Amino acid sequence: MDLLSSQIPTPLQRLMNAATEKAGVALYIKRDDLIHPTVSGNKWRKLKYNLLEAKARSETAVLTFGGAYSNHLYATAAAGNALGLKTIGIVRGLELENKENATLQFCRERGMQLHFVTREEYRQRNSKDYLKHISNRFDRPYLIPEGGTTALALKGVAEMVYEVRDQLGSLPDFIATAVGTGGTAAGILSAGANALAFSALKGGDFLRDDISELLNECKTPGNLALLTDYHFGGYAKWNNELLAFMQDFRAEFGIQLEQVYTAKMFYGLFDLIQKGYFKAGTTVVAVHTGGLQGLIRV
Ligand SMILES: *Cc1c(COP(=O)(O)O)cnc(C)c1O
Repeated sequence: MDLLSSQIPTPLQRLMNAATEKAGVALYIKRDDLIHPTVSGNKWRKLKYNLLEAKARSETAVLTFGGAYSNHLYATAAAGNALGLKTIGIVRGLELENKENATLQFCRERGMQLHFVTREEYRQRNSKDYLKHISNRFDRPYLIPEGGTTALALKGVAEMVYEVRDQLGSLPDFIATAVGTGGTAAGILSAGANALAFSALKGGDFLRDDISELLNECKTPGNLALLTDYHFGGYAKWNNELLAFMQDFRAEFGIQLEQVYTAKMFYGLFDLIQKGYFKAGTTVVAVHTGGLQGLIRV
């Protein structure tokens, strides 16, 4: 299936500027944004084994959860469509039912059935009873939680780490990622690498527990450094300083970031580099997790 084999391994590129030179840090970017033109980055990594499992079980439909701008819903719609799986998206916010946006329109065009629920109902998305109810209601589809974050997701993300190891010849000192649910960070740790995890949410300290829960079965995870001060006001919030940083980054390196996840991570990473967080000689690989469907153009 072309969707599951395109553009792998993704390129690993060195990023050098005055700050990295001064600090003696070897910084690389893992271009998971180039995985696929529509299904970007970590959502592809996280969906891969979930969808292969659904296919292996001869499931005909998958159901998952997300907000109205969700990269995960977008990726699930595209990947499900390519794999011949029916997709159902439970969308947070009943009030959005009659408000179209580009993400939801794309999902519909790929055949995703959208079902809008109140925020209170959405909050139950991980409760057992609720999942039983929703499963019955939609004819027992294969269930994938919000963000695609499952044990199978970790396996897909671990493959990204193995690519990095092969490309560099050894594991870097740190692999940096932006964090929403923590699935990507947990996947990095599950492969034995140390993760620098930049929370895209306000009050992200709870992510430490979520990530360690995801690593329940893992005997030798890497070390987690969770950075919670680069959220720019909270999830899907940003300011002009962040947008200016994105523009500077593009001018300097020719790479487009987006304002919800990847710009916050790189902003934080360069801040840490400038503050002397890393010893000279440290190697850091930062994952461009994609998400460019949600970019606001500035
Ligand atoms: C979803 C997403 C993340 C966060 O991934 P989690 O595994 O949920 O922590 C990071 N970057 C981008 C571009 C995303 O779409």
